Amino acid sequence: MYGTGILRGLGITLRHFVDTYIKDLEWASMGKRTDPEVFAVRQGTQARGLYTVEYPDEKLATPERFRFVPFLVVNNHDDPYAPGHDWCTSCGICAKVCPPQCIWIVRGSDPNTGRPKPEPEAFYIDIDICMNCGYCAEYCPFDAIKMDHDYELASYDRTTAHIHDKARLSKEVRYWQTIAPTRALEEAQARGQWEHKDTAKLAKKKDIPMTEPVWEKRNAAIHNPDVEELARKKAAAAAAPKAATKAGAASQAAPQPVAISIDVENATPDQLAEWAADAGLPLPARAAAALRLDGLIREKAFDIKSTHRKAVSAAKKAAKAEGTTIDELAGSFTSGEVVHAAAPVAEVAAPESAEVAQAEAPAPAPAASSSALDVESASPDQLAEWASNTGLSLADRAKAAVKLEELIKAKAFDVTSNHRKALSSAKKAAKEAGTTIQDAAG
Ligand code: SF4
Ligand code: SF4
Repeated sequence: MYGTGILRGLGITLRHFVDTYIKDLEWASMGKRTDPEVFAVRQGTQARGLYTVEYPDEKLATPERFRFVPFLVVNNHDDPYAPGHDWCTSCGICAKVCPPQCIWIVRGSDPNTGRPKPEPEAFYIDIDICMNCGYCAEYCPFDAIKMDHDYELASYDRTTAHIHDKARLSKEVRYWQTIAPTRALEEAQARGQWEHKDTAKLAKKKDIPMTEPVWEKRNAAIHNPDVEELARKKAAAAAAPKAATKAGAASQAAPQPVAISIDVENATPDQLAEWAADAGLPLPARAAAALRLDGLIREKAFDIKSTHRKAVSAAKKAAKAEGTTIDELAGSFTSGEVVHAAAPVAEVAAPESAEVAQAEAPAPAPAASSSALDVESASPDQLAEWASNTGLSLADRAKAAVKLEELIKAKAFDVTSNHRKALSSAKKAAKEAGTTIQDAAG
């Protein structure tokens, strides 16, 4: 019947109107209308009625990933090793990558020798030009520039107040730990220590002992439940029993081989991509699918996506690892049923994650390891976690690092700076022990 939609809409509006006042009265009767706790409840997804945020007296909480203008990280001013030390080395990478070119850095120099020093003498960011993209923070190799949560920067002076200088930009690392506890912890773990590399060097030079690992101590210091929870999870993940449990679970739920029918001539491009990337299939079957898909790609016979290309290159890479090519392998394959050894068809990786799946797929025959860590079937993230975990033995860290390095070199997954940092932290630990990760792993 005409008009029922309008009536329903009016009914919803009326319900919100009534709920709003009922909730207002409910909280007011408890004397809690303006409590921050009530504010959180009324802004939540389960809230009923409407609640106006009375900005600037009330503010919405900013999520950890929220980003506004950048700031520079410096050591805490009560740091025992290097109070207030700049993390920035004035390398200039952030200024180069900044799309609107709003960063200006003056490198410091030694007053006696005139030689350049790895610290900025001046650092300016024009916040009227900054577009808050976060590239500077993403690219900084020293974790020295971060995106701030402070968005109240309006002023009546647009000439000087909006050009933030080094003094205005510099904030203690504990501020970063407060606004982004999870990220701060992840970065520190990848770095292998809470302190900046320079601080660690300085402490070593001054012969000041640095307590390692310091995660628990610092976590307690910043009293952040999220950080503590993450640290607990990381510690549990790194503990040997996990690997043992995982191995046990894996053996209990060992995938049964299944036969699947592969008809490369009549398959769709998506099916071909799936087969080409599936590490559980015999290589000739993968090669045949990849060859057919490659031909279709060359003919531009369908709407090609990056996943199709990735699947072909994953199969080519697998063939190359066996010292052959997909053309040769495909010659020995005839369409029909093949045994899928690694996982049931339903668990075959989707084409979107073909390359990652290739990297993370369980090894066809996991090697018996003397260590409790199963590096052969671990994901790159797990390997990075183990490689940077100072709580593990050097041999275990080295094993994870060697495997991770192998995967990085093979470009077998989407490598991030965390993976590289974890690798270099393991290498550094091995170097400090007078060895290499290869020797330590052996
Ligand atoms: S903030 Fe980072 S990228 Fe920019 S100059 Fe300093 S160290 Fe280099
Ligand atoms: S956030 Fe983007 S625009 Fe702003 S300073 Fe950094 S790189 Fe430049």
